[in-house]
Amino acid sequence: MNNYDKLNNVSCPVYKKCGGCQLQNMTYEQQLVFKQNKVNRLLRRFCTVEPIIGMALPYHYRNKVQAAFYTNRQGKIISGVYQSGTHHVVGIDSCQTEDKTADEIIVAIRKMLRSFKLTTYNEDTGKGFLRHVLVKRGFATNQVMVVLVTGTPVFPSKNNFVKALVKQFPQITTVIHNINPYPTNLVLGKNQKVLYGKGYIEDILCGCKFRISAKSFYQINPVQTQVLYNKAIELAQLKGSETVLDAYCGIGTIGIVAAKKGAGRVIGAELNPDAVNDARVNARLNELRNIRFFCCDAGDFMCDAANDSEKPDVVFMDPPRAGSSEKFLSSLIKMSPKTVIYISCNPETLARDLDYLVKNSEYRVQKIQPVDMFPHTSHTECVVKLTRATSRA
Ligand code: SAH
Repeated sequence: MNNYDKLNNVSCPVYKKCGGCQLQNMTYEQQLVFKQNKVNRLLRRFCTVEPIIGMALPYHYRNKVQAAFYTNRQGKIISGVYQSGTHHVVGIDSCQTEDKTADEIIVAIRKMLRSFKLTTYNEDTGKGFLRHVLVKRGFATNQVMVVLVTGTPVFPSKNNFVKALVKQFPQITTVIHNINPYPTNLVLGKNQKVLYGKGYIEDILCGCKFRISAKSFYQINPVQTQVLYNKAIELAQLKGSETVLDAYCGIGTIGIVAAKKGAGRVIGAELNPDAVNDARVNARLNELRNIRFFCCDAGDFMCDAANDSEKPDVVFMDPPRAGSSEKFLSSLIKMSPKTVIYISCNPETLARDLDYLVKNSEYRVQKIQPVDMFPHTSHTECVVKLTRATSRA
């Protein structure tokens, strides 16, 4: 730790090596100012930016934790994260952004490996066993999923391993064995087997129940997700008869919350088939019949829907970091919903997409609300409301 870090209260010993918490040299208040300034700089030209909504307790907020496993030259097994931009594993036992139980489970698995004579995977030789561990915890239900990702398919003494793990952590409700034999940056491979439990966990957000499987996207900060979703629904001003489109819907969370809060009919579009499966189950879990999910590219879906003269009143769109596509945005303009609620985890691509909409249509930005979903990192989430300057004929 150098003097600069001491001055700024950096408490994490691997802050520089890990690179995950880019803003840890700032106090939380300074981080919020930093993010506000960033959003202001990128988006102020569209509309005044509301003050960012920070997190009351900005620690241990991540409900999903993954660790890479590696054996060093001295034969010591290390678990942790890849040093940013490299494939060197930085050992981490606990992290101030991650769920404490998830961290404890990962350390326990590392300690169990030797007694079960299990090796770690070596990326260079393609030999060895354990590659990653992924843990997801439902904060509201305390259900825990553990995914053991291995480079080879044979899992010696798997039943005893799972038994010993669940004995130590009775909160674990499901254990999955995922096989990833390829040289790839992706953590999860295609094939997996459920070793224990149902193969998914459940969580509750905004009073709705959600099933989450290993490969589906689920927001990683559930406390702030509720703030974000409530804001998005509030801005949509649903009256009860609207048709709502939830684009890039993941496991259907936004659409389902909108349906519960009174939308007349909801349609969801999502590319990942596992997430779409979860979304369909989630509609049933919440006893909703007025909701349908489609597994497809959101741009293709919009294009077809606009040509079919589908007329949603409100479109929620929540694309990944790369933002939306021109196909999606041009079809959105053609579809011409009264209100668009754009949820974005990347203000740069958000600015690009808003530029496109403002230049090519009568949509204007009415509200920009930043929400801090990722304390200590430089990532910033925003929810934006757009409406048409003139009403549809
Ligand atoms: N709205 C959801 C998910 C947001 S993350 C939530 O709040 O949880 C973005 C989602 O977009 C992911 O589920 C990802 O699988 C999906 N996605 C990525 N590219 C897509 C595309 N081209 N078409 C449709 N969905 C896509």
